[in-house]
Amino acid sequence: MINETMYARGAESSIIREIFSYGLERKAQIGAENVFDFSLGNPSVPAPAAVNDSIKRSLELPSEQVHGYTPAPGLPACRAAVAESLNRRFSTSYEGKDVFMTVGAAASLTCTLTAITNPGDEVVVIAPYFPEYRVWIEKAGCTCVEALANEETFQINVDNVQRAITNKTAAIIIDSPNNPTGAVYTQDALERLADILREENKKRDPQNPIYLISDEPYREIVYGAEVPWVPALYEHTIVCYSYSKSLSLPGERVGWVLVPNTMPRAERVMPAVAGAARTLGFVCAPALFQRVVMDCIDEPSDVDAYARNREALAGALGEYGYTYVEPDGAFYLWVKALEPDAEAFCERAKKYELLAVPSNSFGVPGWFRLGYCVSYETIQNSLPAWRALAEEYLA
Ligand code: PLP
Repeated sequence: MINETMYARGAESSIIREIFSYGLERKAQIGAENVFDFSLGNPSVPAPAAVNDSIKRSLELPSEQVHGYTPAPGLPACRAAVAESLNRRFSTSYEGKDVFMTVGAAASLTCTLTAITNPGDEVVVIAPYFPEYRVWIEKAGCTCVEALANEETFQINVDNVQRAITNKTAAIIIDSPNNPTGAVYTQDALERLADILREENKKRDPQNPIYLISDEPYREIVYGAEVPWVPALYEHTIVCYSYSKSLSLPGERVGWVLVPNTMPRAERVMPAVAGAARTLGFVCAPALFQRVVMDCIDEPSDVDAYARNREALAGALGEYGYTYVEPDGAFYLWVKALEPDAEAFCERAKKYELLAVPSNSFGVPGWFRLGYCVSYETIQNSLPAWRALAEEYLA
């Protein structure tokens, strides 16, 4: 017997991956330059030169230091480097012991969810949301509860979160800068969220607070907006991070979980994260890339390239009559479909070789997501197709 849930997960794949595979097929048929694939969040900006320099230096080290196991929570020097970088940026006093190195944000989230929930619990997500959240929440034996964001700004709608909370709520996941909308949650919205969580916690056993999981792989990819440091606003915040986007290293699988030392009972939460990583079979984060993290911790992302893409795409789409949410961060444009059925709209877009992800995959109807982490040429070359598609609807 196989596990039928796992079979279904594997057989269905994700819609994003399906569209990406369709794009690859189409590119083989008609030439890569004729397909405008906006489906995936694979950074188009190359990893900084410092990454390759660091790898070259590491390769001079004895093999076991580069390719051997590291301690399960990570190399002490790497964990310390992450803590120090956070301290410099957010005036905190974290230590290496507060950081657990992981195999990317996916692992950060699965470890965190497994650590702080029990089967039967509920975890609230802000819709639209990254689709894998549901998969990971359900694998932890919990129910994924959606709280709709503000439908114009896509900021957190705190009233909706409050309505979604029950006595079974173990955690809330937020993701800012947001995938898929590009929204950056304001200090005000986060403070209001913290207030209602504290109100809820008053009704509970202090051992059982609602945790806030702040998933932040896009933290550094912003266009002038401030991304508040969430643990400073709510004491039960766990931060999940990865270098997939900031250092353009999604295939290398490296990130971390921070259990801030300011969190009540942090000394029980961190071992639970370690236990979850052990149970899930992660063993340790890649040794070579822990070294890269140490060396490149404060390397800036080339946000200018994404900013240029964002301007070109959003500017043109606005001109053609599309409505979109002005993205303050990440590299996604959230656009209103030109018919109520977003899936039908994205099917129609395929006629123009435009590949977009319908919003249904993110838990809401009527919109679509464009990943503008593509070449500037792809954006420029796609514009006539976007115009023709709009004309089909708006003529
Ligand atoms: N969280 C969000 C919001 C993401 O967009 C992604 C990847 O696109 C992940 C988590 C997973 O990131 P990683 O590739 O580091 O596992």
